[in-house]
Amino acid sequence: MWSLGRWMLRTGLAALVVALFFVGWRPRQVAAWSRSWLATTENTEPEFLAELRAAPTWAPPSSVIGIVAGHSGAQSDPGAVCPDGTTEAQVNRAIALLVQERLRALGYDAVVLDEFDPRLQGFRGPALVSIHADACVRREDLTGFKVAVSAALQRNEDLAALTQANRLKACLVEAYRQTTGLAYHPYTVTRDMTEYHAFAEIAPSTPAVIIEVGFLGQDYDLLVQQPERVAQGIVDGLLCFLEGN
Ligand SMILES: [Zn+2]
Repeated sequence: MWSLGRWMLRTGLAALVVALFFVGWRPRQVAAWSRSWLATTENTEPEFLAELRAAPTWAPPSSVIGIVAGHSGAQSDPGAVCPDGTTEAQVNRAIALLVQERLRALGYDAVVLDEFDPRLQGFRGPALVSIHADACVRREDLTGFKVAVSAALQRNEDLAALTQANRLKACLVEAYRQTTGLAYHPYTVTRDMTEYHAFAEIAPSTPAVIIEVGFLGQDYDLLVQQPERVAQGIVDGLLCFLEGN
């Protein structure tokens, strides 16, 4: 009897979350409400958390371009770290904010997202670019950038989405090369890139790529001293994709 009651309570609460969403509560409020409710009850049962996760999530208006600042908000994983203490997370974030600023100046709307930003779930937009940088190792051959699309699009034979993602990639590769003067470094594209977690979280129809903007070791001067040039390369790639030239 007790477990039936608990089940009814849980189901009822999940239904309430959904219902409140549909009667016009702002998604942020729903999220805050469910968080505060969780905090007060300390209910961390996996089934309950799964129900909460299944509730409708915040989805950006589809005109907003997503810019993921790689490793932002992920305290335990700042990415590559240089001997002088510069972290990949800092470099990525500086570039992401510049990209957002420039896109806004051009009349586009853009949002900077954390690495594991909840807003990535079901993200819809004209494009999403995740910005990362490579290892801080000074070795002559470790210089250059690379761009990857989701391997899942290929596996799922989602041709329309794959075409758009590849077009975004092609635009970014060409524009970034031209603007930064950096060479493409194709031989170190890893599964970390093609199986990047955010690819599985966003709406499959959102064209998305992950870019490694360079190596923090050999390309330090460009990435750390000239982030505005790096950002301009990404913006130029996005403009090529969005405006079709
Ligand atoms: Zn990274």
